[in-house]
Amino acid sequence: MIAGRAKEDGRAGVWAEAREMLDGLPGGRGLNIAYEAVDRHATGPWADKVAVRFLTKTGSVRQMTYRSLSEESNRFADLLRSLGVAPGAAVFLLAGRIPELHIAALGALKARTVVCPLFSAFGPEPIRARMEIGDARVLVTTPSLFRRKVAGWRHALPGLDHVLLAGPAGEAEGIPGTEGLATRMAEADKRYEIEPTDPEEPALLHFTSGTTGAPKGAVHVHEAVVAHHATGQRALDLRADDIFWCTADPGWVTGTSYGIVSPLTNGVTSVVDEREFEAERWYRTLEEERVTVWYTAPTAIRMLMKAGDDLPKRFDLSLLRFVASVGEPLNPEAVIWGRDVLGHPIHDNWWQTETGGIMIANVQGTEIRPGSMGHPLPGVGAAVGKREDGKLKLLEEPDAVGELVLRKGWPSMFRGYLHQEGRYRACFAGDWYLTGDLVRRDQDGYFWFVGRADDVIKSSGHLIGPFEVESVLVEHPAVAEAAVIGKPDPVAGEIVKAFVSLHAGHANNEELRLQILGHARARLGAAVAPKEIAVVADIPKTRSGKILRRLLKARELGLPEGDTSTLEGTP
Ligand code: AMP
Repeated sequence: MIAGRAKEDGRAGVWAEAREMLDGLPGGRGLNIAYEAVDRHATGPWADKVAVRFLTKTGSVRQMTYRSLSEESNRFADLLRSLGVAPGAAVFLLAGRIPELHIAALGALKARTVVCPLFSAFGPEPIRARMEIGDARVLVTTPSLFRRKVAGWRHALPGLDHVLLAGPAGEAEGIPGTEGLATRMAEADKRYEIEPTDPEEPALLHFTSGTTGAPKGAVHVHEAVVAHHATGQRALDLRADDIFWCTADPGWVTGTSYGIVSPLTNGVTSVVDEREFEAERWYRTLEEERVTVWYTAPTAIRMLMKAGDDLPKRFDLSLLRFVASVGEPLNPEAVIWGRDVLGHPIHDNWWQTETGGIMIANVQGTEIRPGSMGHPLPGVGAAVGKREDGKLKLLEEPDAVGELVLRKGWPSMFRGYLHQEGRYRACFAGDWYLTGDLVRRDQDGYFWFVGRADDVIKSSGHLIGPFEVESVLVEHPAVAEAAVIGKPDPVAGEIVKAFVSLHAGHANNEELRLQILGHARARLGAAVAPKEIAVVADIPKTRSGKILRRLLKARELGLPEGDTSTLEGTP
């Protein structure tokens, strides 16, 4: 039976019930994510409960209660209003995991502007491209990120009216073309009444990548909060007395849906760690912060495994009661390692930028099959399909491999790719959303990840579009053509490997290869740039000129090359 089709009415009921768990704006004036996340708690019994504990880079802790987070985000909303930033305008956030990011995200939602968080490890090029596509009106960032990644091209974005710099007044004031956030916040009102908000109004913009073309800005609406809230309970088992640590960066969708929104709507205390991964400090954080529910990623788990099993024995992890992971395939041995070393198996779950929230999960209390992503959550209709002549055929037999498809209509489904209606439409076949992932479903309804249907790369959990990387590579004067692939890596899942052909007159040597890698790193940032490069005589392409990344990958891995009949140059 196709999970989902038979339960069409049931699904709507599940989400209607989830909606009932939320308050809605007072007076029936709609639904606003930030109201559900903070304001409704800020006047009730949880007003003085700690909402977030920010562990800062310097080792200090900055704690915010639901009341203070509500007031500070009110100030940011008021600031946007005083700057004349209208509802619907895009407010970009480019910062590490600092309190101002939470405050600005929630404040911008209150002001009914559209929040777009960017990964602070991006280089100037991915940042510029996304802000251009997203019609950025406001940017909140830090002095250092501004200087290194934005200042050089800011003039190319005439629509960017305000750049607000977070940080101490001494550092964040007086930089040409910017304003100090702290000073403006101090002048703003800590009271703010959210205007009526239509649940279908755009609220969040998250960029993602396909194989070709520019990055895609997935638009999510305020209604998404219904899924953020309910899936926090159903997939992550969040309860109000939990201390929750989501290690994802808010520059990616997990860091927003489950790093900011879901824990707050559920009234839990979140831990936000500004620093990067370090095995010992992470275990210490679990112990000292008394974390009960932990949401992390396979790359981090593999790095912890690498650090050895003696290290965690030095810490008291007895309060931890639920561990979940997302973003890339989770190896079966990692699930078992969690059970043996952390005391809990790791609960893998699946979702993507476009789905806005968790869709498939190993939930608390069900049998885990290590290596499986679990079952669709209540309200989610998932099936395995195959596209044939533009039509979708659902594969009902167990273990058939096909594309994961989801029945339209869950609250956090993306409502469009900004300015790319055709690409959005192409993601649907009738009532089904096509995820681009290949899966199989076993006879007991467990879903297993098989691979991607396209050529995007997942490196340390970050989705990387090959086209964006190739475009920067070919800007190097020596590079004629470029193709990039994901090369399997035991820790990062995949690393970006580049193949380039050279213009005549350039010799293939180590110095040139390092120069090209350096160029890519400076433009794209370390998280996106290739780690390896190979110079080849020609980039294999189809006769119609499409790069055959799959062939390069097969050759790299020593696998059969498959059907090469469309290869350019074949008779
Ligand atoms: P993003 O949109 O950046 O969140 O990336 C979403 C993609 O990450 C999915 O389409 C999958 O390819 C991959 N992904 C997410 N969760 C899992 C998982 N649990 N197992 C395997 N792949 C996953």
